[in-house]
Amino acid sequence: MVVGDISTGTDVLVIGAGPGGYVAAIRAAQEGLDTTLVERDAYGGACLNRGCIPSKALITGTDVAHEAGNAEEMGIHADPAVDLAGMQSWKDDVVDSLTGGVEKLCKANGVNLIEGTATFADENKVRVAHGGEGQGSESIEFEHAIVATGSRPIEIPGFEYSHDHIWSSAEALDADTVPDRLVVVGGGYIGMELATVYAKLGSDVTVVEMLDDILQPYEDDVKRVVRKRAADLGIEFRFGEGASDWSEAPDGGYHVTTETEDGEESTYPADKVLVAVGRQPVSDTLDLEEAGLETNEHGFIETDDRARTDKEHIFAVGDVAGEPMLAHKASKEGIVAAEVIAGEPAALDYQAIPAAVFTDPEIGTVGMTKAEAEDAGFDVKVGQMPFNASGRALTTGHTDGFVRIVADADAGFILGAQIVGPEASELIAEVGLAIEMGATVEDVGSTIHTHPTLSEAVMEAAENAQDQAIHTLNR
Ligand SMILES: Cc1cc2nc3c(=O)[nH]c(=O)nc-3n(C[C@H](O)[C@H](O)[C@H](O)COP(=O)(O)OP(=O)(O)OC[C@H]3O[C@@H](n4cnc5c(N)ncnc54)[C@H](O)[C@@H]3O)c2cc1C
Repeated sequence: MVVGDISTGTDVLVIGAGPGGYVAAIRAAQEGLDTTLVERDAYGGACLNRGCIPSKALITGTDVAHEAGNAEEMGIHADPAVDLAGMQSWKDDVVDSLTGGVEKLCKANGVNLIEGTATFADENKVRVAHGGEGQGSESIEFEHAIVATGSRPIEIPGFEYSHDHIWSSAEALDADTVPDRLVVVGGGYIGMELATVYAKLGSDVTVVEMLDDILQPYEDDVKRVVRKRAADLGIEFRFGEGASDWSEAPDGGYHVTTETEDGEESTYPADKVLVAVGRQPVSDTLDLEEAGLETNEHGFIETDDRARTDKEHIFAVGDVAGEPMLAHKASKEGIVAAEVIAGEPAALDYQAIPAAVFTDPEIGTVGMTKAEAEDAGFDVKVGQMPFNASGRALTTGHTDGFVRIVADADAGFILGAQIVGPEASELIAEVGLAIEMGATVEDVGSTIHTHPTLSEAVMEAAENAQDQAIHTLNR
């Protein structure tokens, strides 16, 4: 022990207060375990401070302005002026209210909160360094630890975030002026959500993507709907090109150079460059080797279906434990880890983890695609309902996209769904529940859904899988 150190002990030590860590800590405390949560930055982690919540707040804010300014068909003639600094201040209030809520909830549940950076000293002890120089440190001995240290944005060589004009998603979420020209490097979900925000705010947006399409994990017909709408918003796409360099331009802005696989170069003007090429686990600053732990070649800490690492008493949850890097997956793993420590028969089941992309329109998916179900050996039946046949979609003015339900042709069990269209992120929850409950297309199709709602499209897709849809042709 370093002279001056305080040393304490705890049943469960959680490192990182993101949606993986704080949820794990609350559940562990609810289970009656003495629980300590260490956070070095801000309660709520990336999700509340630099991810899900601020991005969705800006998406909503820009949508409100964009809708109001583009509603002539509804007889609305408006030209809303967006005060981005004002929108940021509203977004910050939303974030503060949630992060404050997390801190209060932890305290109210009896979680012991410690601010500082934790590193392993051995397999039953961490050292926590408080703040800056001279602020001291303490050692905490633990029976069990849950590592929930999350992820950080990947940098590409030459495009370090230390340059003012190179943004990670965090800077893009905090800007209070709108760049005239924005180059977005990476057409994944974070790049596409923020490209949409800035296009709606008036930036000329160019998305540079090495692959031949945006949103790599999604099916072609799903992506097509989002890509077309993005193009209508003025977003330019450059596929098959990787950002290789930038230089200052004589007009005071910058030139971003890209290169194809064949070495062909192109240059795009930019005032800001958002690099959104993925995220990497925060596992390299923990002195994991002191605890006898290793990561895989991608830096993730591998775990079993109980969120356990190679060490029986150390668990890892959330982004640091692998894909999919999603907040709700982090929280579920946190709950399972806490319950396993408490001796409950908890385990992870990934068959119904939904995913949402908050582009315009949104994407919501859960379970298997048709191709995945066929690969898994199912005889598959698919039902689809376009939103342009939904009364409610027409009344919102948003009719692009569809609901698709993938089911087992024999017994009708629902295996998955892909929704692209208005409120897809909300609608997908019904199908997630259906999969969890082992429901069939008959169950969902014969459930009475409120009229007029978008959720009727889920019912109709289920009916279409049985050739019984009323509002779309059964073929
Ligand atoms: C722009 C953006 C938008 C996103 N949108 C969505 C979305 O819509 N839906 C969704 O599901 N997901 C979204 N995500 C992903 C989501 O934010 C992450 O999956 C989620 O935050 C992971 O939670 P976590 O608890 O694993 O880690 P994090 O939220 O990253 O939290 C980890 C915490 O650990 C702390 N920490 C790290 N090391 C230490 C240490 N040594 N000592 C003490 N504390 C430490 C960090 O400070 C951090 O607070 C988005 C991410 C970004 C960047």
